Amino acid sequence: MKRGIHPTLVPARIICVCGATYETLSIKPEIHVEICASCHPYFTGERRVVDTEGRVEKFEQRYRRFREQQAASAQR
Ligand SMILES: [Zn+2]
Repeated sequence: MKRGIHPTLVPARIICVCGATYETLSIKPEIHVEICASCHPYFTGERRVVDTEGRVEKFEQRYRRFREQQAASAQR
């Protein structure tokens, strides 16, 4: 390895907002995450939507308008 360009590797603890912690190695001793393997619905099997920045709401608003148009054109 080339000298002087590599960051120092330290034991690190990954802390999720769900309370799970993971031990690993990193250049930072502590890393906070919002979602992890023990709380993401893909791994838990729970049917839940992980919403960021109201994207689900935006999609539903758009789709609602589309369905209303469909209903309106079906009546004619
Ligand atoms: Zn988690």
